[in-house]
Amino acid sequence: MALKIALAGIGKIARDQHIPAIAASPDWELAATVSRHASVDGVPSYDDFTAMLAARPDIEVVSLCMPPVPRFDYARAAIAAGRHVMLEKPPGATLSECHALEAMARQAGVSIYATWHSREAAMVSTAKTWLAGKRLESLVVTWKEDVRKWHPGQTWIWQAGGLGVFDPGINALSIVTEILPDPIHVTASDLFIPENCETPIAAHIAFAHPYGAKVSAEFDFRKEGDQFWNIEITTAEGSLVLSEGGAALAIDGVVQSATAAGAALTGEYPRLYANMARLVRAGGVDMDLAPMAHVADAFVLGRRIPVEPFIE
Ligand code: NAP
Repeated sequence: MALKIALAGIGKIARDQHIPAIAASPDWELAATVSRHASVDGVPSYDDFTAMLAARPDIEVVSLCMPPVPRFDYARAAIAAGRHVMLEKPPGATLSECHALEAMARQAGVSIYATWHSREAAMVSTAKTWLAGKRLESLVVTWKEDVRKWHPGQTWIWQAGGLGVFDPGINALSIVTEILPDPIHVTASDLFIPENCETPIAAHIAFAHPYGAKVSAEFDFRKEGDQFWNIEITTAEGSLVLSEGGAALAIDGVVQSATAAGAALTGEYPRLYANMARLVRAGGVDMDLAPMAHVADAFVLGRRIPVEPFIE
């Protein structure tokens, strides 16, 4: 039987990905939306989350699609009301609040899922399998996109807690932490912060690797023209390039699978919702915070470099 779910925060990602993924899945029935401004045709809508929880005891699961800073209060209320919770990435504004949510969920006996959509990109699991057992020499992340194109009007990205360029950058780190067999940690970070913003528009990060491989990431929100969501890896046994955010893969220069430009995210959200259905039915918890720990460390170690104001 389909699980009844409520979607809260009806913005870009809810409309682009969550609503179509739920509609296409036999696991789910979109039973309510919660939004301060929007509604979805044919679906009961509420403008207050607490009122929805009180009015709809039939809804077992909530999926939270608002930006990270306001998300904690919604998740806490849902857990307190005995509902399973699915969190957009990043799962919260701080590591501590995510740990607190996990503890609350375990105490309440409900499932909580910190989703990382980029880990579900088409070629990520193939890359992970290829990399297993190989000796890493270098890994370079290049994540460069045009913020005006992909995040129009999203002022929250420039406010404290909105992560700036780490909002997409954390997707790269979610792939890196999924496919690398060994743990890495941040050793240096440069944060380029527009004079009129609280969060970085670009960042360079260096990581330490247990066997001395060179690992680095370059994130930039100012890229016009060609967009790059690439992870280039060399090992003693060959090289691998994941591109299109993990949707395309080449091994030793031979393309294994290519996805049309702009088709990134295809299949990612259906897989997230399939994971959530399994988690709820099994009574599980999935709160991997590794990508977020790297971002937090990049802020702690970050050298702040002021750059020209960002005018959208
Ligand atoms: P968005 O369109 O700017 O915002 C989503 C919705 O969140 C808004 O429409 C609003 O919904 C609600 N919201 C905003 N501020 C709020 C507040 N202070 N309190 C309560 N609700 C608030 O952002 P988005 O692009 O959908 O991103 C939302 C999350 O999804 C972010 O964590 C982002 O990293 C993640 N994500 C985004 C993308 C993407 O391509 N955009 C891709 C993957 C993941 P209501 O008006 O309905 O209340």
